Amino acid sequence: MKRRKQPTVAYFCMEYGLKSDFHIYAGGLGILAGDYLKGAKDNAYPLVGIGIKWKQGYTTQVLNDQGIPVDTYPIYHYDFLEDTGITVEVMIRKRPVFCKVWKCNQFGNADLYLLDTDLPENEDPWITGQLYGWFGEERIAQEMVLGIGGVRALRALKIPVDIYHFNEGHALLAGIELMSEKMDRGLSYEAAWQTTKKEIVFTTHTPVVQGNESHPLDRLMYMGANLNLKRNQLQKLGGSPFNMTVGALRLSKISNAVAQLHGITANQMWKDIKDRSEIIAITNGIHVPTWVDAKMLEAIDKSDSIIWKAHQQNKQKLINFIEKRKGVKLDKNKLLIGFSRRAVPYKRSDLIFSNLRIIGPLLKSGKVQLVFSGKGHPLDDTGKLIVQKLASMQKKYPNSVVFLENYDMEIGALLTRGADVWLNNPRRPKEASGTSGMKASMNGVLNLSILDGWWPEACQDGINGWQIGDESVPPTEAEQDDQDRKALYTVLLQKVIPTYYDDRKKWIEMMRSSILTTREEFSVDRMLDQYDHLMYRKN
Ligand SMILES: *Cc1c(COP(=O)(O)O)cnc(C)c1O
Repeated sequence: MKRRKQPTVAYFCMEYGLKSDFHIYAGGLGILAGDYLKGAKDNAYPLVGIGIKWKQGYTTQVLNDQGIPVDTYPIYHYDFLEDTGITVEVMIRKRPVFCKVWKCNQFGNADLYLLDTDLPENEDPWITGQLYGWFGEERIAQEMVLGIGGVRALRALKIPVDIYHFNEGHALLAGIELMSEKMDRGLSYEAAWQTTKKEIVFTTHTPVVQGNESHPLDRLMYMGANLNLKRNQLQKLGGSPFNMTVGALRLSKISNAVAQLHGITANQMWKDIKDRSEIIAITNGIHVPTWVDAKMLEAIDKSDSIIWKAHQQNKQKLINFIEKRKGVKLDKNKLLIGFSRRAVPYKRSDLIFSNLRIIGPLLKSGKVQLVFSGKGHPLDDTGKLIVQKLASMQKKYPNSVVFLENYDMEIGALLTRGADVWLNNPRRPKEASGTSGMKASMNGVLNLSILDGWWPEACQDGINGWQIGDESVPPTEAEQDDQDRKALYTVLLQKVIPTYYDDRKKWIEMMRSSILTTREEFSVDRMLDQYDHLMYRKN
């Protein structure tokens, strides 16, 4: 089939996970964005990224002596960024804010342009200080830099753009800038809206209502985020208070959710929003060379013992890392379950501890070993309590429970290669996608997961991993937790543990299936192809 020329895409995201110690990412959103830029580069796709050069990044979170998480904010310097010589200006609170534009393409990624306000000439140099550190005016200022500054940077760099892709609603103000440009050229508000819409595609991420940020209209006006739009014109786009997701849904030609199930949830969530774009589902994918051990991929055509050996090497690396960091020596020949998630209640990090009569003896004997990681948001006390609870379990079962502080890409890679099982038990259907499970499955680490996010698409129960429970969702959270807890223990005790200890042949066969059934379907290459066909080229 003859293809039209590929459109040139500018991809906007608040965070990018390109390399573990390049601290401009917080979690899954950034990892996806980083993987996407690498996928674009691998496929020579005409795409550039727009982001922010965070001075302090997201929190560096460690446990103190009492096992309580403490946030620290080192200042990072990077000598590998290229100075483009370009600075753009954004008026924020009626004051000029200069944004220096850096370029980064050292990590096998498509060109990424990073805006930076940390300049002596700025009265507000701190805007690009902490990623997700602040709310209110500070967050709007950051979003103005990303969105408005981002479009201006593209203009100054003379990069022609056909499609603006907003990864999450944070970038929406870029759409206001695009409308404003057109209104400056004499187009009416309506005409500017309709024309701009054709240039924008939007990816929505969170199926949790509160996760969809909104701002009071007055505050946006005060900040100058409206540019030359009037208050009621802003309101028409995002409502009052102004919801960034709603605005992006109204200012895009098409939107997507990040897994098939999330597509259903997102359509349900936004069904009452008028004049919004259609939400299709394009399941996330991962950059395979970044996350998957090439040895594992090669081993699937080889003998059982070669697969096992390759896996055990990865497990040993994880065990060595844990010993170095925590002084705990886990046993290579005992089942090792990994779990790493942001510490938020719906992910239920401590579900496996909810009946110590069942899990306690298994942890005491070492038959089950658990490794956790994950940060709580610095301003979220509930999240911190979750971390604290996990840390206290480590005290209670010091030889078989480990909490690895300060989850980052390095820990993510070690865990999704070196664990035997990757556990995921969110309250369905709140997990949008869950790319860590994809990393695990392609490394032959068997998923043990609720049928949420991407897993219903991949799971063949007992063949390439396991499902916890079924697709039913009880009416209350308490009942749901109860049901899922029972299901988790049942599959753990009746399937996972016996297979691991008594049927190694079957286990290895499952590892093979896990890799074979996911390595292409859940790669970022497939995702890029779908974005191209279903979103960027859509009329
Ligand atoms: C892969 C990864 C994520 C995303 O994983 P989820 O499955 O969405 O939780 C987040 N943080 C790090 C450091 C990762 O490596």
